[in-house]
Amino acid sequence: MPRRPFVCGNWKMNTSIREAQGLVTDVVRGTTVLRDVDVAVAPPFVHLSAVSKKLDDSRVRLCAQNVHQAEKGAFTGEVAAPMLREVGCAHVIIGHSERRAYFDESDDLVNEKIGVALAHRLDPIVCVGETLDEREGGKTMEVVERQVRGGLAGLSAEDLSRVTLAYEPVWAIGTGKTATPEQAQEVHAFIRGLVADLGGAEVADGMRLQYGGSVKPDNAEALLAQPDIDGALVGGASLDASAFVAIVRAASARV
Ligand code: PEP
Repeated sequence: MPRRPFVCGNWKMNTSIREAQGLVTDVVRGTTVLRDVDVAVAPPFVHLSAVSKKLDDSRVRLCAQNVHQAEKGAFTGEVAAPMLREVGCAHVIIGHSERRAYFDESDDLVNEKIGVALAHRLDPIVCVGETLDEREGGKTMEVVERQVRGGLAGLSAEDLSRVTLAYEPVWAIGTGKTATPEQAQEVHAFIRGLVADLGGAEVADGMRLQYGGSVKPDNAEALLAQPDIDGALVGGASLDASAFVAIVRAASARV
């Protein structure tokens, strides 16, 4: 079954409101004709509303960068899934390596956040990936397996069918180093096997697996040509509309 490519831009803690509005306008304009790719942008929380207004009639979807695991309550400074849904989000990134590293997010917490996202009609993009030490220590598959099984524990096949998994080797994020297409494909194929074990062959076959880690226009095509790489989670390059659109174009050429 062909999987529809999915490219998401993670703007992290960047852009002013004005810059965010300009960036999304250019992304919408540049991707309108690329109808065979699903596209999303993930601005900072405080820009979601402004960006949402620019997306009104477009196919570009709004994505949040994080969500709290509780539906509401006394959690000063946090943002809940119903709020994200109300502002127009269709997706939420969960378990990004920066959240795991700087905010101590565990696989159990990732699992809780996936649950609350699904309950509020937010389709999660769940990030997994090994550090450089772990790769050099031959632990890549062990780490990825723990993150995938821990994060997705207890999800039904129906829930799993709404999840996108992003393989993001930590050593490739924001470093300019990219996994080779073969390195990425090896882990993606392994992840698909894990998903088959959790939810069956049909769910695994339908799940979109994004690669993330210094994806740029000049390496996107080779990465996206791999059979188990169905899209990209793009950090730095997503702040430049023409670079991001070129990556979406590479995903479109894959179809
Ligand atoms: C990311 O943070 O998800 C990411 C992939 O960043 P970059 O593209 O900048 O490596």
